[in-house]
Amino acid sequence: MKIDVVSIFPEYLQPLRLSLVGKAIENGIVDLGVHDLRRWTHDRHRTVDDTPYGGGAGMVMRPEPWGEALDEIAPIDQKAGDHPGRLLIMTPAGRPFTQRLADELAGEDHLIFACGRYEGIDARVAVDASRRMRTDEVSIGDYVLNGGEVAALVIIEAVVRLLPGVIGNPESLAEESHAAGHDQLLEYPLYTKPPSWRELDVPEILFSGHHARIAAWRREQAERITRERRPDLLPGADRDPRPEERPGA
Ligand code: SAM
Repeated sequence: MKIDVVSIFPEYLQPLRLSLVGKAIENGIVDLGVHDLRRWTHDRHRTVDDTPYGGGAGMVMRPEPWGEALDEIAPIDQKAGDHPGRLLIMTPAGRPFTQRLADELAGEDHLIFACGRYEGIDARVAVDASRRMRTDEVSIGDYVLNGGEVAALVIIEAVVRLLPGVIGNPESLAEESHAAGHDQLLEYPLYTKPPSWRELDVPEILFSGHHARIAAWRREQAERITRERRPDLLPGADRDPRPEERPGA
């Protein structure tokens, strides 16, 4: 998978060189490009922002450097008339990032991340990009960060760990919290050695060696934890459809 990230703080993306994502880059599973947006500025001060039309606090990222950056990183395939990759614009006003969206993105060949700063990116950038490539404005949660870099790190980590060859035992992905194969329940409690610690004992059932009973106990625990912490995730819960479940999505 090819991943490109555009930011005015490329150093923020350094942690991608560590741990499993770093190994995926070393092994050639991921081809990572991190780009400084200021490369596509043309003035002495390498300006990327300006005051908002209509007034208001803060600064807005100008569209020109973004347009030029995306033209270069995601050029149009002349035959197809579009770019085959997918652009993800980081914004707290975007569609929520979920494990389902991570699963979907793991099937793409090329992801491009646009990391905003200040009050965000001029709205015309998303409109222009969506004329020639699949474009999503994505939020990692209902809170506001200073910039999109941390959001891009979150999404890249969640997506890359799903790529074949990244996690040693792919079976471990199936039972995790939010996994489709686990009915999107939260994970059951986990225990390791020692069997007793600070007067807290590992549940007896886990020593039984009885796989079916252990599986049933874990399922019960997963349902209990989900009911207590995230009832909105339970099958049939009265919740708004997720964006990807909405008709026409
Ligand atoms: N004025 C924007 C608003 O009210 O929606 C917030 C801008 S925020 C201070 C600056 C940048 O941080 C955004 O352009 C975006 O790239 C990033 N950002 C902040 N919170 C985010 C979130 N929850 N998810 C994704 N990106 C976020």
